[in-house]
Amino acid sequence: MPAALIDGKAFAAKLREQVGAAAAGFAAAAGRRPGLAVVLVGEDAASQVYVGAKHRATIAAGMESFEHRLPAATGEGELLALIAQLNADERVDGILVQLPLPAGLDEQAVIAAISPDKDVDGFHVINAGRLAVGQDGFVPCTPLGCMMLLQDRLGDLAGLEAVVVGRSNIVGKPMAQLLLAANATVTIAHSRTRDLPEVVRRADIVVAAVGRPEMIRGDWIKPGATVIDVGINRLPPAAGADKGRLVGDVEIAGAMTVAGAITPVPGGVGPMTIAVLLRNTLIAAHRNAGLPAPASL
Ligand code: NDP
Repeated sequence: MPAALIDGKAFAAKLREQVGAAAAGFAAAAGRRPGLAVVLVGEDAASQVYVGAKHRATIAAGMESFEHRLPAATGEGELLALIAQLNADERVDGILVQLPLPAGLDEQAVIAAISPDKDVDGFHVINAGRLAVGQDGFVPCTPLGCMMLLQDRLGDLAGLEAVVVGRSNIVGKPMAQLLLAANATVTIAHSRTRDLPEVVRRADIVVAAVGRPEMIRGDWIKPGATVIDVGINRLPPAAGADKGRLVGDVEIAGAMTVAGAITPVPGGVGPMTIAVLLRNTLIAAHRNAGLPAPASL
């Protein structure tokens, strides 16, 4: 039987609807809408697309969107001053600085300047630390979205063997922390891992966050495993086409014949990221206003 496809698009649409309903409830209780500020520095084409999509989704969820588009030549002092202003602005519950920043701007210094209570991307060291020690904080959107899909599919993850391929601060490491907190037995693999196929073969759960098209082959997957493919890779265009096809980090055709379930690319993990960003902003709004956050989110 071919693997079930995990429909991240439908899950994300449902989450966005729930966030929208809760945002309306927040507005009625607090007398203002939850607010998300997005800062984009420079003209990176992919970043422009992401920022536009975040703006539209924020408005659609009944939240206030504050967009700040700054030229690539913006100095670090000016950017830090904007962040200080957003930290102090009571209408702003969440602050997101779109990465990557242009060369010359120190990403770590910029992220460190965001108030941890408004860090809805969960990239601040305080939030990374809270996740590591099991305290409430903000968790990066993509891994939290992966976790929601996994728990929806599998329920309790206790005792399952999970292999996360990739150890970035924004996907691999927080993903591993979340799986550990859910009592999975977690292995983090990376570019120096010996015999990656054998490591992946023992996994009941595989999370691929590498950024290499279809690197994880179908015959590495344990029969019945649940596969979460975070990778978004554009192949070179076929002759006559403008754009190449999008593929994940997992060889989907092969994986489909062995896995129990798998997220497609596109339509799997991708749509979850923005939905979770809205969810994190809604939680931030409740905390900032001293209201209890909705338990169902
Ligand atoms: P990074 O480039 O920061 O990290 C990639 C990781 O993969 C590194 O830890 C690296 O290991 C590891 N790696 C590279 N080559 C190999 C290899 N041959 N074998 C094993 N491990 C390897 O990427 P990100 O974590 O930011 O993103 C990963 C993918 O997820 C990308 O395709 C990105 O586009 C996608 N993505 C999707 C999102 C979404 O919304 N769906 C959001 C964020 C990312 P090492 O540390 O040793 O170098």
